[in-house]
Amino acid sequence: MRIFVTGGAGYIGSHVVKALGEKGHDVVVFDNLSSGNEWALLSGRLIKGDLCDKALLGSAIREFRPEAVVHFAALIQVEESVREPLRYFRNNTANTLNLLEVMKENSVGRFIFSSTAAVYGIPEKVPVDEEAALNPINPYGASKVAVEMMLRALAPDPAFKYVSLRYFNVAGADGSARIGQAYKESTHLITRALKTAKGEFDRLSVFGTDYQTPDGTCIRDYIHVDDLADAHLFALNYLSEGGKSDVFNCGYGHGYSVREIVETVKKVTGIDFKVVETDRRAGDPPVLIADSLKIRRKLGWSPRYDNVEYIVRTAWEWERKRRRK
Ligand code: UDP
Repeated sequence: MRIFVTGGAGYIGSHVVKALGEKGHDVVVFDNLSSGNEWALLSGRLIKGDLCDKALLGSAIREFRPEAVVHFAALIQVEESVREPLRYFRNNTANTLNLLEVMKENSVGRFIFSSTAAVYGIPEKVPVDEEAALNPINPYGASKVAVEMMLRALAPDPAFKYVSLRYFNVAGADGSARIGQAYKESTHLITRALKTAKGEFDRLSVFGTDYQTPDGTCIRDYIHVDDLADAHLFALNYLSEGGKSDVFNCGYGHGYSVREIVETVKKVTGIDFKVVETDRRAGDPPVLIADSLKIRRKLGWSPRYDNVEYIVRTAWEWERKRRRK
């Protein structure tokens, strides 16, 4: 298939581009390289462009004539979204509107959207399923809910089918350490802990130890990035086979506490770094775990790397390689 991937040079996008290449798909990546890197493309061709440039986007789509669009390009930092909410609605919501309009103008009718567990806010029930209310507690989550609303409004259109994938905590890296997370600022727990082990930070903060969880720290459902990449391939197949527009959680269905992750990072790296307990971070739900039955049943997806040590080990191998670069 010809597949147009926005944001394909970023962390998750580049793992999906890798998987698409391995399956023999013809890929064009459209990325402004604001946080992505050209070296991360293990297959496909890059068009350097921004989704706000509708003319460039239109000519790229007209020329390539994709059979499907997979849309990653977005800003993803919760705290930044609180400081600059309009930037998030511009980048994540308005730019997606541009993309959907260009798709419609060019009769491109299959769309895979990168959504997030942040659409649920603080869920009433855990594990959270796709029927749960959408109550984002930050502008990042709201900018993604706004796109889901646009998509829902398009659902009756027989010429347009979408799958929205709600990602839980994505972590890990390519098993051969060719690509991985390369953000300028890493706020995510596993990367932050590994960088502390490497000596880039002198300590790791544990944000809050008084949550209503067995060890007092927050619990998250960590999914390996290659398993998440597979979910996109299953979603593309599903749409190719005439599947209806739908929304799926992407997670394993069980979680680890911050303390458990810290212990795993210490064990995998063999480095006993300094850990300090600090106040809660604003906006953190205590427990976020996916009910992932729907994606398993309807798309036939199942995880290959549901092993927290493997997740941490691949991320660690990537981090060490980056130091040598
Ligand atoms: N966390 C932490 N120290 C850090 C980074 C994160 O204690 O340096 C905690 C954070 O408060 C949350 C969990 O680790 O409970 C996962 O955070 P992350 O930023 O990785 O992902 P999020 O769940 O916010 O998307």
